[in-house]
Amino acid sequence: MDYNVTVIPGDGIGPEIVREARKVMDKVGQVYGHRFDYTEILMGGCSIDAYGVPLTEEALETARKSDAVLLGAIGGNVGNSRWYDVAPNLRPEAGLLAIRKGLGLFANIRPAYLYNELAEACPLKKEIIGDGFDMVIMRELTGGLYFGERHTEEVDGVMTAVDTLTYNENEIRRIAIKGFDIAMKRRKKVTSVDKANVLDSSRLWRKVVEEVAKDYPEVELSHMLVDNCAMQLVMNPGQFDVILTENMFGDILSDEASMITGSIGMLSSASMNESKFGLYEPSHGSAPDIAGQDIANPIATILSAAMLLRYSFDLDKEADAVEAAVQAVLTEGWRTADIMTEGCKKVGTKEMGDLIAAHIN
Ligand code: NAD
Repeated sequence: MDYNVTVIPGDGIGPEIVREARKVMDKVGQVYGHRFDYTEILMGGCSIDAYGVPLTEEALETARKSDAVLLGAIGGNVGNSRWYDVAPNLRPEAGLLAIRKGLGLFANIRPAYLYNELAEACPLKKEIIGDGFDMVIMRELTGGLYFGERHTEEVDGVMTAVDTLTYNENEIRRIAIKGFDIAMKRRKKVTSVDKANVLDSSRLWRKVVEEVAKDYPEVELSHMLVDNCAMQLVMNPGQFDVILTENMFGDILSDEASMITGSIGMLSSASMNESKFGLYEPSHGSAPDIAGQDIANPIATILSAAMLLRYSFDLDKEADAVEAAVQAVLTEGWRTADIMTEGCKKVGTKEMGDLIAAHIN
């Protein structure tokens, strides 16, 4: 089949890592008989240089018309770049907010997977790691505390700040459906995380999630309070498959989950809308400190491309092949500098991409 993919190389290491992800997708296309047509657009600092804004309306329209978007990373050295001498809405990161909003991306998916080969980078004790862990955090991205009414005022001579946490049932239902859909492609287990012992928004969350669960009889649903979840992630991470949660809880828990994998260059992510459309990107930034040196780890971007194949194109077999190729290359001892340990073989960005592509056959 033919697929149209919008590609955003972006800034810093973005172009280098995206090139490797495309290489791997092209190999998938060759082996499995698909064609991926790419259209590149500018976003971030490179778009500011070319057009004076971090994302043009035309670029957004190109993304909107495609089947999925693959992003490298955007942004520069925040303390030392002309891109930051301007109003916040004209800085590189504003492009990210604009594309998420323009494409209606409300569901953020961040996997946290521990490769046996990289277990030494995991800060948890061996007995806690056990057989490892393999979870995804499904975070609501456009509602809740970060988007609610807020103000600061003086009340009876005392400065007082108010933030409001609002969710309506439709916003909860659509993210819950996404969470259960993803669980159906995995181990069919959803842990819905809330603070229902205190918050009204959490009690509504729990009620709606239970309603949605009725349409997924194969999926096992449990509820967990967010404070307990924060503890369970470092006490018994192996128990989780899909963690489904609201915006702020997900922000905090997904960072905690990524920390226990120990390797920033390995973490993929996706942001999706109600259809199968999504934007796929590594969890890390543009790493300006190592840009252009052929030392960045391309694996997070390659794994993001695997998520794209699985979630936007329903190419599960092909996504499995990419993930298995990454696993095989690590098992053979190949490492980029950021995950290098004694006895392994060091390679650059390009060679890592070549090795992974070569394992897809
Ligand atoms: P960063 O993730 O870019 O880098 C943090 C550290 O991790 C650096 O030492 C970097 O060299 C290293 N690193 C990151 N990715 C790596 C990889 N693939 N391989 C090897 N090492 C890697 O975070 P930062 O330095 O705080 O931010 C740099 C820029 O990226 C900023 O402009 C920031 O706003 C932007 N940013 C963009 C995104 C995005 O595009 N989605 C996300 C986060 C940060």
